[in-house]
Amino acid sequence: MKNNFPALLLLVAAMASCRKDGNPPVSTPSQTFTLQQHPAEKAYPGIQGRVIGIQHGSDSIFVEKKGGGYVWMGDILLDEQHFNAMKKSGTITTDRTFTEDYTRLWPSGQVFYALDPNFTATEQGFINDAIADYQNNTPIRFTARTNQSNYIYIQRGATGTGLYSTSIGMAGGQQIINLEGGMFGPGEIEHEMGHAIGFYHEQCRTDRDVWINVNYNYIYPNTQSNIYQYQTYDEIGSSGWQIDQFDFNSIMLYSSYDLVQPGTNNYPMTLTNGQPFNSQRNALSAGDIATVFYMYQPVYVRATLNYTDDENDQTYQHSEGTVSVNFYSDAAGTVPATLTYPLELNYAVVTTSDCSGTMGVENTFTIIPAGNPGTVTIGNFSMTYTYDSQMDPLTCYSQTTGVAPGVGYWQIY
Ligand SMILES: [Zn+2]
Repeated sequence: MKNNFPALLLLVAAMASCRKDGNPPVSTPSQTFTLQQHPAEKAYPGIQGRVIGIQHGSDSIFVEKKGGGYVWMGDILLDEQHFNAMKKSGTITTDRTFTEDYTRLWPSGQVFYALDPNFTATEQGFINDAIADYQNNTPIRFTARTNQSNYIYIQRGATGTGLYSTSIGMAGGQQIINLEGGMFGPGEIEHEMGHAIGFYHEQCRTDRDVWINVNYNYIYPNTQSNIYQYQTYDEIGSSGWQIDQFDFNSIMLYSSYDLVQPGTNNYPMTLTNGQPFNSQRNALSAGDIATVFYMYQPVYVRATLNYTDDENDQTYQHSEGTVSVNFYSDAAGTVPATLTYPLELNYAVVTTSDCSGTMGVENTFTIIPAGNPGTVTIGNFSMTYTYDSQMDPLTCYSQTTGVAPGVGYWQIY
């Protein structure tokens, strides 16, 4: 009797285009935004810093050294330590709008913060408005820090410091959101808070060319660090992924009017018909809200392989069965989840690398609609193994190949 356990490799992705199919991801208030020529948030906007390129595998990362740090992607100010960590790290997680790094998500969406006492009453009101927008519409909760070690210090920046966050997601220890006095409203605060919980800029999506034209030659000043802000995560060599469609209402999108050479109509980004577009900094868009849910309200997936051996002896094994999945809102797998998105499952049944086996199922895609899916059978498989007489069949044992690469989506057994 052989003991060869086929294993499941399961990839879970949210469906693109789900907001057009009658399944809104979350209930949101109707939105009427004023789209304007907002300048994009920038750290030290009046200073042209020295551009530094660092090699990162086969790709280059460009930052601008100014303001006592390294400005990455326009409004992320990295300190020396984080810059050096980026130089050393094996992977960067620059997704469409959010970090893929689980350790950078605030546990349970609980964000601790401390407030600079120098904000004016009006500015404090803006900050309260920004916090309220997150708390009324997403699972993020802001709590005044007492003694927590990981927290955001929201500081009122001096003239010229601009708007920035020192981290994408939770940095560990103190991190800063800098708001130059008099230069912001609730929307700009929400943009920087977006970075602090893990958002990147919307124009970094890999599918953005379907929706907009990007003309790198028109970026002014045409420095590599400015060009870098408009590249997709694919173009800068990072693995990433994206949900839903390009969102012109996203609070994380630049408008066409940023980094335009004065006196010209040379827009770095336009609609595909060549016309410039505006951006909004009023409130989180439906797409922003859905993304926060995606990141911070995880769905747990349990995959089950039901199979039988119809032939099994010392030299040969043949198994057949089905693959099914269940979704849960808790890590223990006891509370069935309601999916806020249609999910696309990509799964394969594989063997461990030290076994010779026949892959029964490869790259099979299944779409699970939003709602309460219950148990979903996503496919059948059959596997055949033949054994070398010298091989110890127990070396084939494996149950640990589950992978769910999306932020917020986890596989459990
Ligand atoms: Zn930004």
